[in-house]
Amino acid sequence: MPGGANDPYEVLGVPRDADADAIKRAYRTLALRNHPDRNPGDADAEERFKTISEAYATLRDPEARQRFDTYGHVGRGPVGAQPDFSHVDWRVIFQEADIPIDWSRRGGVPTTGNVVFDALFRGVTTMFRQAGLLPGEDREVRAGVDLGTARTGGRKRIHLPGPVTCSTCRGSGHDHEGSCATCGGTGRLARGISVDVTVPARVRPGTKLRLAGMGGPGQPPGDAYVEVAVELPTGFRSEGRDLVGEVYVTPLEASRGLSAIVLGVPVSVPPGVRDGQGVQVAGGGLGGDLVLTVRIDIWRGLARAALDTARSALTAIRRTVTDERKLP
Ligand SMILES: [Zn+2]
Repeated sequence: MPGGANDPYEVLGVPRDADADAIKRAYRTLALRNHPDRNPGDADAEERFKTISEAYATLRDPEARQRFDTYGHVGRGPVGAQPDFSHVDWRVIFQEADIPIDWSRRGGVPTTGNVVFDALFRGVTTMFRQAGLLPGEDREVRAGVDLGTARTGGRKRIHLPGPVTCSTCRGSGHDHEGSCATCGGTGRLARGISVDVTVPARVRPGTKLRLAGMGGPGQPPGDAYVEVAVELPTGFRSEGRDLVGEVYVTPLEASRGLSAIVLGVPVSVPPGVRDGQGVQVAGGGLGGDLVLTVRIDIWRGLARAALDTARSALTAIRRTVTDERKLP
């Protein structure tokens, strides 16, 4: 139903038979009056600027204007559907109506020369961003990798939540054969995307891997950063490139000394070790060392010894199998 804020003619204050020039003049007058430079921090002006810009976007497009004249709304769906301005090229609109906006600020939001748009016009900024006029937002996700993968490097599948820039067409919406099949020509993937990231060998926990152009949609698209979280057994932690924790030994082992495997690394505990003494294995971390504190504790020491026995039995079985295969 025409009328009120949903009626673009009423919003711009022009008659139904106004020609393109009259509509543009009306829009320019109203847009400049509600421009951020003149209304710093005014949320109502922001909303007015957005409304009149959308009204103008409707009336300057012959097809959209025709649709409004016929059905009384600008949405493509049933009556009352939200109009979709996501494909409107706002840059062209502001240029042709001669609304001054400084687009040059890379990595930020447009400014009007001296006032940052974003602070004043969050709604407009969202509108710009959805229209692909602003640089896309950077994204950050965490990826948990096991210690083996962290040591040797490998692949890890992660999910980047949407919307993200379509990685097939890089946001352009088309490939060499026409409309991009992956995103259906929208240049974005609303549900996000699963990607395999390459984890480098001996990755430092907390490393952020950059996936260029796989962040939020925009022009240019943002980047995605994958923070590598190395999953360690309880009681162990990483400090930079070192791995830090405790090794439990029985009182007998403490007096005799022992060889143990901690986090997959052979560790030599010297005879006569005291509780709280440090044992360090150079190169046993992730590009750093394995730094252990010896704890003399009979029960935990026995539990560790049992695990060591099971592990070496398994290794012996594997070795036997391998040796038998070598037999003629
Ligand atoms: Zn695509």
